[in-house]
Amino acid sequence: MTQARLASCIPLPLEHKVLVTVIEKAKDWALMHGVGMRDKKHFTKDAIQIAPFVLLPSPFPRTEFNKAIELQPILNELMHKVAHDDDFLEHTLQNTLQVDEFTAKLYEIWVKVKDEGITQPISLGMLRSDIMLESRCPHTENQCAKHTPYCSWKQVEINSIASGFGHLGPVSREIQSYILRQLGHGDLIKNMPENRALSGLCSGIIEAYDLFGVPSAIVLFVVEEVSYNICDQRFHEFEISEKRPDIMIYRKTLNEIFEETTLNDKKQLLLEGYPVAVVYYRSGYEPAQYPSSKEWDARLRVERSSAVKCPSIHYQLAGTKKVQQALAAPGALEQFVRAELCGRVRDIFTGLYSLDFDESGERAVDMALEDAERFVLKPQREGGGNNLYGADVRAALLRMRRARERAAYVLMERILPPTVAGYVVRPGGAVPPPVTDLVSELGIFGVIIGTRDKIYCNRQAGHMLRTKLADANEGGVAAGLGALDSPYLL
Ligand code: ADP
Ligand code: MG
Ligand code: MG
Repeated sequence: MTQARLASCIPLPLEHKVLVTVIEKAKDWALMHGVGMRDKKHFTKDAIQIAPFVLLPSPFPRTEFNKAIELQPILNELMHKVAHDDDFLEHTLQNTLQVDEFTAKLYEIWVKVKDEGITQPISLGMLRSDIMLESRCPHTENQCAKHTPYCSWKQVEINSIASGFGHLGPVSREIQSYILRQLGHGDLIKNMPENRALSGLCSGIIEAYDLFGVPSAIVLFVVEEVSYNICDQRFHEFEISEKRPDIMIYRKTLNEIFEETTLNDKKQLLLEGYPVAVVYYRSGYEPAQYPSSKEWDARLRVERSSAVKCPSIHYQLAGTKKVQQALAAPGALEQFVRAELCGRVRDIFTGLYSLDFDESGERAVDMALEDAERFVLKPQREGGGNNLYGADVRAALLRMRRARERAAYVLMERILPPTVAGYVVRPGGAVPPPVTDLVSELGIFGVIIGTRDKIYCNRQAGHMLRTKLADANEGGVAAGLGALDSPYLL
C-alpha cells in the first residue's frame, strides 16, 4: 500500500541560493536561542551544536490537532487513576515482572514504600501523549474520501517519566516562524498554534513546590551523568528561576543523590541541609541509568521521602507499555473513564496485544508471524531504540515462541502516517540538504497534580513535534534520528 501524502506549507524545492542563505541564518538563530544539544561524538561542556530541525513546519490537520489538545486532560486523569489503582497495576504487571528485571525492581520499590506507608500522597504528573496520524482509514475509501489523505490520529504511547522537549517544542515554532519570515511567508505563521509547553510544565513544578509548603525547600532535577539534551533541561531551570527567584534548583545524578542526601526523622529528603520539595526525573527511566545498587538505593530513598516526585514510582509503572496494552483490552477503560468519554479514548488506540502465555497471546503470535510488517514489538523500555520492526518482529517471535521472555513484550499495530516533503537541517550535514520524504509524531503535554482522592490541577500544557525520514523506524531527536519540528495546521 502506498503511503498518503500531505502538501508542504510552501511549494518545494526552494531556489538554491535562497535555501543556502536561509539555512545559514537559521543555524545561527538556533545556536543563539538554545535550539541545541551537546555533541555526542566530540563531547565538551564548553560548546553546544544545533539540534537537527526541519526547515518548514509540517502540515497537521487542525481538527485532529484540536481533538488531541481537548483529550489530554482526560488522558491525564486516566493515568492518574491507573497509577493509584494498586490492584490493576499488580494484576496487569504480574507476568511482566517475572521476566523483566527492570520493571520488577521498580515494582519492588513501589511495594516497599506502600508497605511502609506513603509519606507524600501528592504526585506530580508531567505526561506526554505521543501520537501519529494514521493514513490507512478503517472506513471504506468512499466514506473517507472527503477528508483523506489522513484519517485520524492514533496514540503511539504515553510517557510518564522524563517527558522532554518542553523548551525544544516551543522554540521549534519560533525558529520556523523566523525562517518563514525570511522567506517572505510571514503570513503563514498564523497557522502555527501557540505553544506554551515550557511555562505550562514549569508551572506544574512550581505548583507542586507550593503544595509542599516549606519556604527554604529546593527543587531537585535527577539528571544523567552527561546531559546531551542540555538546552531542554536548562531552559526549565531558567524559566522557574525567572518566575520564582526564591526557588533554588539542584541537578544531581542518582549516584550523587545516594552520596549526598539523607532522610531526616520527618522523612524529608535533605540536600546540603535543605529539604527537597520536588524531585523531577530527567533520568532513571532505563536500566543503564542504574549501574549499581547505589542508584537503586537512591531511588528508594527518594520514593520514601516527603518530596513530591515527578513521577512517583507508581506513575512510572502506569506509563509502561504493558499498561497501555492492558487499557486497550475490552472493558478496561470503563474502570477509569466516565462512560460517555470511553469512546473518545478508545478511538485513539491502535491494535495492542498481550503476548502472555494464554489463548489470546498465542493468537497474537500467530497473527504477527503471518504478517510481521503490520506490527511493532515493544519491550518495557523508554528512550527510543528498543522496539523491533518487520523481519525482526518475526525473528524475535520465532525465537521467543516458547520462552518466558515473551511476556516482557507487547505487540502493537504499526501506524502508517502520511508523508510530506521537507528539508532536514543537521549539524555538519550537507547544505543545502536534499528534499526528503518525512513523517511526524506529535507529543501533547499534560500536567496533573493530585492524591489518590483529590486532583489539584489537570491541564493540557503545550506540544512538541518530531519528524523523521519516512522510511526510518524511529525518530528520537536526542538519539540523532529525528528532527525538531512544529505543526502547521491545515
Ligand atoms: P519509547 O518509549 O522508547 O519512546 P515508543 O513506543 O515511543 O517507545 O516507540 C519509539 C518510536 O518508535 C516512536 O517514536 C515511533 O517513531 C516508533 N513507533 C512506536 N510504535 C509505533 C507504531 N505503533 N507505529 C509506528 N511507529 C511506532
Ligand atoms: Mg516513551
Ligand atoms: Mg516514545
